[in-house]
This record gives sequence, structure tokens and C-alpha cells, in this order.
Amino acid sequence: MKFQTNLLRMRTVYDKPVRYYLRKDKNEEVLLNSFIGKQVQIRYLEKINCINCGAETNKSFHQGYCYSCFTSLPQTDVGIIHPEKDQSHLGISRDMEWAKENILIDHFVYLAITGNLKVGVTRYNQVPTRWIDQGAISVIKLAKTPNRYLAGLIEVELKSKISDKTNWRNMLKSSSHQLDLKNEKRNISQYISNELKQYITVDNFITEIIYPYKNSLSDYSQINLDNKNEFSGILEGIKGQYLILSNGGVLNVRKHNGFLVEIELD
Ligand SMILES: [Zn+2]
Repeated sequence: MKFQTNLLRMRTVYDKPVRYYLRKDKNEEVLLNSFIGKQVQIRYLEKINCINCGAETNKSFHQGYCYSCFTSLPQTDVGIIHPEKDQSHLGISRDMEWAKENILIDHFVYLAITGNLKVGVTRYNQVPTRWIDQGAISVIKLAKTPNRYLAGLIEVELKSKISDKTNWRNMLKSSSHQLDLKNEKRNISQYISNELKQYITVDNFITEIIYPYKNSLSDYSQINLDNKNEFSGILEGIKGQYLILSNGGVLNVRKHNGFLVEIELD
């Protein structure tokens, strides 16, 4: 199978293991799990199209947007990257209608194991999608807030205690852990200030995520399509938003949102 497409974050379905769908064109997707163990070839056609307006852009901003969309859309506003800086609850937003549907709704602060223990924020309806995209293997909800801003405040309070970042190499390597997430939640909760403690969840359910990747490799090198136009190899597995090849090359699909490529799958 051979097709041209603008890369887009793989759609995922929570299953054991997670199912990954790659967009082929407007109406069709390919279930990539069925190509694991087979040859894959990807050629970058040196063109990037904005994932919002489709305009050609020399550079991708915030994972796939042209500069104009990046500086005007609500989905690339400051509160998306820094939830604690969101001002939608004060009526200040690039698009209040969008904010009502995406920002002024329930959010979770969570603890996830993505190689290391990390804290993060997500909209309630992005669960478990957000966790899968990050390559988390185990997740517990920490707090539930009525908007993004409050979740951001809690996250900021905890940033000095736990990382809010994921190291991609460690994420790809991790398959098991010794951490007791309920314990971690109890410990970290004491650092949440009194006015925000009311949002801590009683829900201690732990979501375990299994990926179609057997942790068979020990070394990885990141493929940047800007530097390397073409690569091929056996698809060893998929984790987070990474395609993992048997030669250790890994492609972060989401980072290449909008890149026009030709894909050949055997
Ligand atoms: Zn655009």
C-alpha cells in the first residue's frame, strides 16, 4: 500500500494493546497495528500544510499550524501550553465560544508514569487519549477542577516536587515500574494549598496502558524529517505518538503534523 498524506497525530483507541490509526486521506485511515513486523517507508515531500487552514507553511508552529493560525486560534493560545495563565474564566479568550466548550469544562490533574513520574493536566474528555499520546503506562487522577485555569494552578504547585515533562527516550524504554501511584497521590496531595484541596479526587482508579511494542530495543534515535527526507525499516512497534523501527529510528508523528509524506506499507 502506497499513499500520500499530511501527517496527523495518530488516532488511538484504548484497547489491550492500544490501537493506532493513521490518516490516509479525508475519509480513510489505516490501522497501523496490523503493519507491525512489516516494512515501512516514509518519504518527506518537503511541504508542510497547516492542520487548521491547509495553507502551505515553511515552518510548523505548535505542532502543525501556520503562523497566522498559531497567533489567532484559541487552540494555540497561551493557556493551552500554560494552563495557569488561561484567563477564560475572566471572560478573556481568543474565542469565548471555543473556551466554553474546551476550557471552561472539567479538567483533570493526573499523575502518570511515562518513564518518570509526571504531573499533567487534561480536559476530562481527552481521557485516556492524552495519556496514550504521552506514552504513559500507568495513571491516577489527582484532582478534578471545573476549568483549565484551576487545574493549572494545582499543577504549578506541584512542579517543584514532580516533573511536568516526559523524557521521550525513557518513555520508550519503560515497561514496568515499582511506584505505588495511590501512595504517590497521598504524598503529593499534602503540597496542594488549602483552597485547592477541595478538588482532590476520591477516585483512586489506576489506568494501565499497554502498547503494541514489546520493549525489544534499548537504543533509539529520533528521526527529524527536516533533516532526513527518507527512512525505512521494519515497524517494531508504536508507543505514545512514536513509530518505532527495528533499527532504533523513531518518528514522533505528532511533532510532524502537517508534513506531506509518501508512505509505503508492505
Ligand atoms: Zn493555518
